[in-house]
Amino acid sequence: LPTNEKESSSKEINVAKIKAVIFYLTEEMFIPFVLSLPLHLKSADTSYQFVSGFVCIRISMSAAGFHAIILLHSCSIMHATNTVCVLVVLLSVRKRPLNKKELSRKEDDIVTVYDNAYLTVHEPRLKVDLTAYVEKHEFCFDAVLDEHVTNDEVYRVTVEPIIPTIFQRTKATCFAYGQTGSGKTFTMQPLPLRAAEDIVRLLHQPTYRSQRFKLWLSYFEIYGGKLYDLLSDRRKLCMREDGRQQVCIVGLQEFEVLDVQIVKEYIERGNAARSTGSTGANEESSRSHAILQLAIKKHNEIKESKRHNDGTESKGGKVVGKISFIDLAGSERGADTTDNDRQTRIEGAEINKSLLALKECIRALDNDQIHIPFRGSKLTEVLRDSFVGNSRTVMISCISPNAGSCEHTLNTLRYADRVKSLSKSGNAKK
Ligand code: ADP
Ligand code: MG
Repeated sequence: LPTNEKESSSKEINVAKIKAVIFYLTEEMFIPFVLSLPLHLKSADTSYQFVSGFVCIRISMSAAGFHAIILLHSCSIMHATNTVCVLVVLLSVRKRPLNKKELSRKEDDIVTVYDNAYLTVHEPRLKVDLTAYVEKHEFCFDAVLDEHVTNDEVYRVTVEPIIPTIFQRTKATCFAYGQTGSGKTFTMQPLPLRAAEDIVRLLHQPTYRSQRFKLWLSYFEIYGGKLYDLLSDRRKLCMREDGRQQVCIVGLQEFEVLDVQIVKEYIERGNAARSTGSTGANEESSRSHAILQLAIKKHNEIKESKRHNDGTESKGGKVVGKISFIDLAGSERGADTTDNDRQTRIEGAEINKSLLALKECIRALDNDQIHIPFRGSKLTEVLRDSFVGNSRTVMISCISPNAGSCEHTLNTLRYADRVKSLSKSGNAKK
């Protein structure tokens, strides 16, 4: 869509991570697409002319555009045309409120959010002569959610729009990134439950019911570079790749979800099984990545009896699409590499490696690189199939608002910024 004058003069434009989308357009899909576009995305001075063939569309905008791309994708599927590939990355930031402890210490809230897309960090600093001053750092993302935003709204902005796509051969991933105590678990916990509600509702629609689509759930953890099943007594798992480069986690328990309430029970059961060491639950779980997957599978009775375990034809049928919710290890844990304790050092190095590899993979996705550096870490290897084909990536960077967390907050925002900024300068770098 061409940018009109109003759009280019407004600050709203160019904040998104959305790249070019290549479609094979046919007349049947083009007209409903244009008709269903939200009004604010149509520019009055543009006439849409239909041209058959491969079309490359560059869309640049905020969360609204995220919805538009998904709409476009849905149209193409509705009309059974081939979408070559759709990759969308949505970068969001969530600020939590000051907690009781921070309030009792009278700590300043140094993060201001405006227009749902911008934020400023007011870093308290000292000059050489020890006079205090404030250094301002400005950031811009697809969505910035302040301390008043509820978990329901977080769901609506980040995950809700991508749910229909996982019925359409898409792999979606939603990450929470940030320092320990910034709200990752608080943010991630309710999302799979809300998603399962929407998925189950869609499964009951005649189209999907007749296709025998079913919902399956699994929950595991990566701790110190090893995989543990959180729904099967922390059984150690190993990963295998088949000839078609499909990832398969051998022995991972998957459960069919027939009603939503059971999802809550699985989440609670899995949480209770997360790494807990002598130092206390939160301390240890901040060193692991927890991955909850909801997969849509096409039930196939004939195959079921003699299924071969090659990853695509897994228990319950062929995977149509899936969404992974990832509560990442505390970002500050990657710096535990100089700790005196050897175990802590090893874990820190592993976390550091995985967070760097994750950033590289998302950046590679965004630059249409043929080679995606999955092999950088266990985390990215496990997510390999979510980085190829049609994919949706939602990153929620969680930040603490208090002055004492300033350095970590800036680190988190810079990490997210690195994921973002490369898409703009990507071509120059190549
Ligand atoms: P993390 O998983 O990043 O270590 P948690 O999600 O455990 O952090 O959050 C730390 C504490 O802050 C928890 O007690 C949690 O309930 C609270 N908290 C986090 N985000 C919010 C929020 N947006 N609103 C209210 N409380 C929050
Ligand atoms: Mg946590």
